[in-house]
Amino acid sequence: MLPELEQLLVIQDRDQKILTLKSDLERLPREEENAKLRLVGDRTSKEKIEQEIKENEVAIKSLELDIATRSDTISKLKVQQFETRKNDEYQAINHEIERYQKDISSLEDSEIELMEKGENLSSDLKKAEDTLQSTQDIVDKEIKIIHERRTHCQGQLDETTKERQSISTSIHPDLLNEFERIFSSKKGDAITELDKGICTGCHMKVTPATAAAVRASKNIAHCDQCGRMLYS
Ligand SMILES: [Zn+2]
Repeated sequence: MLPELEQLLVIQDRDQKILTLKSDLERLPREEENAKLRLVGDRTSKEKIEQEIKENEVAIKSLELDIATRSDTISKLKVQQFETRKNDEYQAINHEIERYQKDISSLEDSEIELMEKGENLSSDLKKAEDTLQSTQDIVDKEIKIIHERRTHCQGQLDETTKERQSISTSIHPDLLNEFERIFSSKKGDAITELDKGICTGCHMKVTPATAAAVRASKNIAHCDQCGRMLYS
């Protein structure tokens, strides 16, 4: 094989490696995003419960306020009752006090229900927090692996790029340009084998003259169909 072609094959190998490493590196941020997205569902569940707890606490406060207002009214009625001398007025106030006491008793029942609901919500919240934490642990591990892969890929990319740079200095710039042009237009292979008269890049038969030129190995021969550089 022509020594230039041998060198270009090494360049091609490094360039293919560089392409793979770059595409790996480009994929990593998306993988990291996907890993983080797995937390969204768990976080939403937890926030929903927290919101319900808040609303429940507000409802309890409002009941307590209603109870306090009625207790206050009862105290005032009792003062009125104590001061009155008329029996019918005394009885009327008594009825009113009873009515407020009934109200209070029913409000207290509601309050107990809300407090029980609050206890259930607290235990739901604990479960949701545990679930979120365990997902967070998994996601943290995944992200750690992704970061390690990034460091590894970047290291390999730097090393391969440097290596490629040093090999390419020994190749004639025109030839290197030609190689790079074919490499980018053929998306990763510029030099390919001629196998029984067929270009393994485009799988077409080359002309007998081209096949002979490849065999002679004096100049770089190109596939008549796709333009790739050929070796046998
Ligand atoms: Zn071809």
